[in-house]
Amino acid sequence: MNPVIIIGAGLAGWTTAREFRKLDTNTPLMVITLDSGDFYAKPSLSNACAQKRTPAQLVSTPAAKMAETLNVTLLAHTRVESIDTVAKTIASSNGMFSYSQLVLATGAQPIRVPVAGDAADKLLSINSLDDFALFHARLGAGDSSRKHVLIMGAGLIGCEFANDLAASGHQVTVVDPATSPMAALLPAQASMDLRDALTGLGVNWHLGTTVKAVNTADGDRLQVELSNGQKALVDIVLSAIGLRADTSLAQTAGLTHERGIVVDATLQTSAPHVFALGDNAQYASAGERTLPYVMPIMSAAKALAATLAGTRTDIVFPVMPVAIKTPALPVVVAPPAPGTPGAWHAIEPGLWHFLDPKAQTRGFVLTGKQTARRAEQSKCISSPAF
Ligand SMILES: Cc1cc2nc3c(=O)[nH]c(=O)nc-3n(C[C@H](O)[C@H](O)[C@H](O)COP(=O)(O)OP(=O)(O)OC[C@H]3O[C@@H](n4cnc5c(N)ncnc54)[C@H](O)[C@@H]3O)c2cc1C
Repeated sequence: MNPVIIIGAGLAGWTTAREFRKLDTNTPLMVITLDSGDFYAKPSLSNACAQKRTPAQLVSTPAAKMAETLNVTLLAHTRVESIDTVAKTIASSNGMFSYSQLVLATGAQPIRVPVAGDAADKLLSINSLDDFALFHARLGAGDSSRKHVLIMGAGLIGCEFANDLAASGHQVTVVDPATSPMAALLPAQASMDLRDALTGLGVNWHLGTTVKAVNTADGDRLQVELSNGQKALVDIVLSAIGLRADTSLAQTAGLTHERGIVVDATLQTSAPHVFALGDNAQYASAGERTLPYVMPIMSAAKALAATLAGTRTDIVFPVMPVAIKTPALPVVVAPPAPGTPGAWHAIEPGLWHFLDPKAQTRGFVLTGKQTARRAEQSKCISSPAF
């Protein structure tokens, strides 16, 4: 019997394997991944420094243990190069394999913007444990030196790193073209409250501008030039301007892809027996959106495991608020679907509802102590956020 093959050993890949094994202990299962296959919680990358956790300490289950527990053949450090959806084979750096069903769980890639200067290639971004290990080494965590980190992007990930690094004693500067942090997701007052809370930790802001050039300066330092003409001398530039679904394999296989790999309600791609979930997927069940968060992956992996085990199952996403890991001002956001008409309204201090023209609640934001009301507020959304 040809195996079910999962490409990718992130949260989407391993959770699908785990859910599948709950339903089917016999069918051969193979996981192929570019990285080591060690299991870790990616959200912990943006709050590890303040907790003084090293990259090794972030591994919750080593790859070999995952493979043994789930009865999986694991091919680590292996790149899948192409897929033949007619022959039902994949070609990898470790050989060719036939599949009975194939799951693409290849995640997303950091977006890069053009930056001038002779040190533009020194920009770091963090979307894997290996990325974090490189950052951690540059930070010199463990020694007592205080580094100056310039973060490009005041979105969710940028704000989390700003909080974590400032709380760890580093000097932090955040640069963003918007005029306040997480401006696209939060009501204006919540955004300003977050800015003030992070400022209280020592975060320095350059808002309404962008990074124009990064050049080498004395020693290992970097001279950053902003488009408003200001300059900053820093140790590390961390780019946190967003991720884009990795559709490269889907493209070579001729699968339909737009913002992500297009999947139907059963998470099937445009080819039979080929499925996708996680940061690389564009879900029909979510109004053709990508959902690059943990909760959608957990729901999708359960539904997909049932389909792989023989019971075709549609994914139904619940309301999925996202907790932003900014302890300076905890935030929970359940944003309205993009394009939903309406506006944010303050309901109580620390609680906002996004109301449509019929005064129906389409999203909410909680800050500070109000974040404890996440479950209660999820029930206020009058229809799914998609
Ligand atoms: C710093 C940070 C903090 C976050 N915090 C939160 C949070 O607090 N809450 C929340 O809900 N979400 C959070 N997220 C988002 C969440 O972590 C992701 O949505 C999730 O981890 C994505 O999992 P994935 O398996 O889809 O992708 P990935 O974890 O990126 O896994 C992709 C896998 O595919 C493999 N791969 C790729 N291409 C190939 C190939 N050609 N051949 C073989 N293998 C391949 C890779 O090696 C990897 O194993 C955060 C993300 C980041 C970056």
